[in-house]
Amino acid sequence: MRMNLSAELDRWLSPETRELLVRIGACATCLGYHAYLVGGPVRDLLLGRPSCDLDVVVEGDAPAVACAATTPDQSTPVVHSAFGTATIQMDVSRIDLATARAESYERPGALPTVYPGTIEQDLVRRDFTVNAMALTLDGRCRGELLDLHGGRSDLDHGFLRVLHESSFIDDATRILRGVRYEQRFGFVFEKRTLELLERDLRYMNCISADRVRHEFERTFEEEEPEQTLRRLDVLGVLGVIHPTLLFHSQKSWALASARRSARSPTELHNVYWCLLAWGVSADDVETLGERLNLARGAREALADSCELALLEARLDDPGLAPSEVFDLLHRRSHAALQAAELMFVRPTARGHISHFVRRLRHVRPSLTGKDLQALGVPEGPLMGRILSSLRSACLNGEVASREDEVALVRRLVNPVSWPLE
Ligand code: ATP
Repeated sequence: MRMNLSAELDRWLSPETRELLVRIGACATCLGYHAYLVGGPVRDLLLGRPSCDLDVVVEGDAPAVACAATTPDQSTPVVHSAFGTATIQMDVSRIDLATARAESYERPGALPTVYPGTIEQDLVRRDFTVNAMALTLDGRCRGELLDLHGGRSDLDHGFLRVLHESSFIDDATRILRGVRYEQRFGFVFEKRTLELLERDLRYMNCISADRVRHEFERTFEEEEPEQTLRRLDVLGVLGVIHPTLLFHSQKSWALASARRSARSPTELHNVYWCLLAWGVSADDVETLGERLNLARGAREALADSCELALLEARLDDPGLAPSEVFDLLHRRSHAALQAAELMFVRPTARGHISHFVRRLRHVRPSLTGKDLQALGVPEGPLMGRILSSLRSACLNGEVASREDEVALVRRLVNPVSWPLE
């Protein structure tokens, strides 16, 4: 049955985006092409969910349509001629235009070979039926739904269904994408798709480090990534990616807590990595970093969190002086400290980490290196030792004023003469 959604589409779009999409449709017609809204935005429109990034497929030269549809007062499209794509960035949203393409896979997990194709070929290469629908943007059929794979019905039933039996073999990142959609929309894998997923899990090993990491990073951007990670664990996907990876309810709770106190998205991602890998040994963390080709910051945070995990027993001592806590914890990355605070099970150790993060690491003596030079301390290792003793004294409350600090420096510089003062 034909279905026209132009009224729903117009209500769903902002006036600025609506106007631009109308122009894209008109320009495609003028150039003798057809243009379609495809994939995620069609799914989100039907679900009544907002979507900032819109994907348009053109049966023809997509960059030419993008250039013809934008006026000089709008941002110039960024064109990638070699890929037949163009991006138009607006204030809050973005439209990606791509030339319709067909593709073939030379081997499992390889990036596909692509060549220009029809909208039907473009849709059949997609991951799930709910992402394989298109809306016509040009001509009299504007708003007509092209649903060749039963996406609408699957959307109504909340089913994730692959388009063919070797979908996960061709590209096992679809398993990670599918679990993300499952959790985001509250969908379930259709029965046969779930069988295929379980059958083809091992093809995850054919996927490059960067592509697997990218899917994790997209998962981290979900509202509640812990749901997806938990499900990946239950389905055995985490274990295939790296045998030591596991996710359980304490980690779920920790991820949600980390989100509430995050200072920046990059730092939050690093905390997520530490939590995900919490409990993994130092050697395994190294191979995990390689399997996912993690950035240096994330690898350092992971290495720190391994060391912190080993320090939990030592930190579980209520008699530790603040300077001892400082010595054990300083120079550790903030992400690793946050993960440790959330994952430590011994309350005293947890308390020491909180105290360090909130207070101890900010403690500084009032005397600086320059002040020490003025007091006759030469630059070099001695100055380093004196500065660190000063900080320990401040941390332990052994000095309370600048005068106390000066007196301590004098004693440290000239230990034999101080009793005579
Ligand atoms: P999200 O809401 O997470 O951004 P999206 O559906 O817009 O979801 P994108 O990753 O932006 O997802 O991909 C755009 C479209 O490209 C998808 O809707 C899907 O049809 C197709 N697609 C993306 N990755 C794959 C893949 N690995 N295999 C097949 N089709 C894919």
